[in-house]
Amino acid sequence: MAGTAVRGRLTWQTATVGAVTDETPGVRTLSLQVPDWAGHRAGQHLDIRLTADDGYRAERSYSIASAPGEPVAITVERLDDGEVSPYLTQDVQPGDEIDIRGPIGGYFVWEATSAAPLLLLAGGSGVVPLRAMLRHRSRVGSSVPVRLLYSARSLAEVIYRAELDSPADGVEVIYTLTRQQPPGWTGYARRADRAMIAEVAWPVAQAPLAYACGPTNFVEAVAADLVALGYPAQRVKTERFGATGTP
Ligand SMILES: Cc1cc2nc3c(=O)[nH]c(=O)nc-3n(C[C@H](O)[C@H](O)[C@H](O)COP(=O)(O)OP(=O)(O)OC[C@H]3O[C@@H](n4cnc5c(N)ncnc54)[C@H](O)[C@@H]3O)c2cc1C
Repeated sequence: MAGTAVRGRLTWQTATVGAVTDETPGVRTLSLQVPDWAGHRAGQHLDIRLTADDGYRAERSYSIASAPGEPVAITVERLDDGEVSPYLTQDVQPGDEIDIRGPIGGYFVWEATSAAPLLLLAGGSGVVPLRAMLRHRSRVGSSVPVRLLYSARSLAEVIYRAELDSPADGVEVIYTLTRQQPPGWTGYARRADRAMIAEVAWPVAQAPLAYACGPTNFVEAVAADLVALGYPAQRVKTERFGATGTP
């Protein structure tokens, strides 16, 4: 019944933390066992609610890092002065329980039935929902051509690096390393700008679909660049994580 499904998504429930994986020194993936999970779509997020001993509560949103059909997972970047992310990246242990609700969101979602060439633009941890889209594409055997432009401060801060360094057929991963590049690096080494986006983006004539995700300033800049290059605004989907740094 549709009403039940909607209530289910918006109701808090207790998830148990399963495997915990360090992606980079400051980024951790938490697998979550959720007893009442209705399934999710690639690009959706969930909310986490932490309650302190004195009853103080903090809620934050996290994109779902896993593909539809895979166990629910989130990937969290630690902000040293943040309230919630240090707990999720340093303190939480397998077996701990946390309150979650979701899946949430129907706009920043990629459906594998889409035939449009896919352009993914990630700033830092903004790669998380885009990774769910890439995994979904592989799992369903889609051959839609994909380009992922991923802006990270350094190679060491690239999340899911092993996975992204062996992309599926038809997927191109292009890094721009904004702060530090390894010796001999020949790739992009600056913040994403219009010239870079113009080089990476699929031609407008191919009717591509774009998803941009990351810190608000990154997302707004790259979305504006795409629109300036002729992408219709409704073909540029954006997800803003907030002012969480400059990737
Ligand atoms: C839809 C969605 C999906 C998201 N997905 C992810 C994800 O997959 N992975 C991920 O790591 N994050 C994701 N985020 C971001 C996440 O929700 C949190 O914002 C992030 O983890 C920081 O939370 P925090 O409690 O650690 O930091 P906060 O305590 O919220 O602080 C965040 C930063 O803002 C600064 N700040 C806080 N309050 C103020 C203030 N009043 N004035 C000025 N600066 C301030 C802090 O110094 C800190 O640097 C997502 C956000 C959204 C909206």
